[in-house]
This record gives sequence, C-alpha cells and structure tokens, in this order.
Amino acid sequence: MHICYGYGIQANLDWKKTLGDQWRQYETVFPVLARSSIDQVSLECLHSHVPPDLMALLAGKDVMVGVIDVASDAIETPETVAETITNALRFVPRERLIACTNCGMAPMDRAIALAKIEALVKGAALARRKDMSGATAPRPPLTPPADVHARLARDGHVVVDATSLATLCGVHLADLAAWRRYWDDLPSDRYLRDGGHYPPAPPLVFRGAQ
Ligand SMILES: [Zn+2]
Repeated sequence: MHICYGYGIQANLDWKKTLGDQWRQYETVFPVLARSSIDQVSLECLHSHVPPDLMALLAGKDVMVGVIDVASDAIETPETVAETITNALRFVPRERLIACTNCGMAPMDRAIALAKIEALVKGAALARRKDMSGATAPRPPLTPPADVHARLARDGHVVVDATSLATLCGVHLADLAAWRRYWDDLPSDRYLRDGGHYPPAPPLVFRGAQ
C-alpha cells in the first residue's frame, strides 16, 4: 500500500500548508494498517514532515521508505540516501526496510529519474555497509526523565537510558547492569508497541511500552 500526500495539484499543495511542521496523521493510520493483512506500506520520508518514529507503529510490516524526492529534479547524493535509511533503521528492522522513491517517477525526465535511481542504489549500499559496521548506528532519541509520565500518557511509549530506568524502577544501576549479559539473546516481544524490535546498540537502552 502506497500512502501519498500528492503532488502538483494546487488544492493539495494548499492543504499541505495547513498541516504544520509535523504530519502526525500517520499516528492514527499506522496502527490500523499494522492490524490489517497488508504486507507492505510505502511512504514518503525524504523532505516529508512525517515524524520518522511513527514508522515504529508499522511493526510486522515491510516498510518501503521513500529516500528519493520525486517533486524535485535535484539528484540526491548517496550520502543523503544513506542518512535517510539509517534514520529509518532506528524504527524499522533492517529485514523489513526497503529503500524506494517517495512516489512514482513517471512524470520525470528520464535521465534525471535514472540518476536518482543510481543514487538510491549507491546510498542503499552505503547504508548497508554502515549498518553492518555498527559504527554509525545512531542512539535513539531519549525521553528526558521528567517527561516520562506525560509522554507515556500521550504517546504510550518512551525511550530512556539505563540511569533513568534504574531511577524509575527504584533499583541500583549495578543491579540493572547484571541483566546486560542477556541482551544479545532477547527474544522478540510481540506485546511491545514496535513488535519487539530492539535497537542493536547501545546495550542498556531499553524500549518500553504501556
Ligand atoms: Zn505517491
């Protein structure tokens, strides 16, 4: 299923201007899609205003991540493509992520379209190398401890570091660290909002859900 914000139609462009900095409509739609029998969801990512963390709500689906802007003739660099993919990998398991264009390229100049596809291929290879090396795996955005209760009530999930978790749970950090050796063998937890996709690094960052 391709979700499209549309291009080139004035009424559509005017509507987009009313959506604000963050397009959070997907927050309502994604959980419904996640419960459906649809296998793949395709969405615009590059230059889109959809908060990338919402992709975590598509647990269990293949996510076609738009890394090429089809509304611009500017050719993306492989680095830009890789950055968009790497960002999405924080919220989509690598085996579920398919890099693609934001939307169809039929109206584009053929040479530009081909150059963009070439950038997509090179960028995907670059992202794969970075992901395999683990060296550039970004840390997930952490929820400040003071905001945890409000964010849980609002979003239903938070990401906190080990120190904050120990404080929240009323345990010593050292006791929490004793669980660290089990980290690599954590099974998927389907009750978690993201389907149990634990970030590969760093250890002792726990993802929790209400
Ligand atoms: Zn589209």
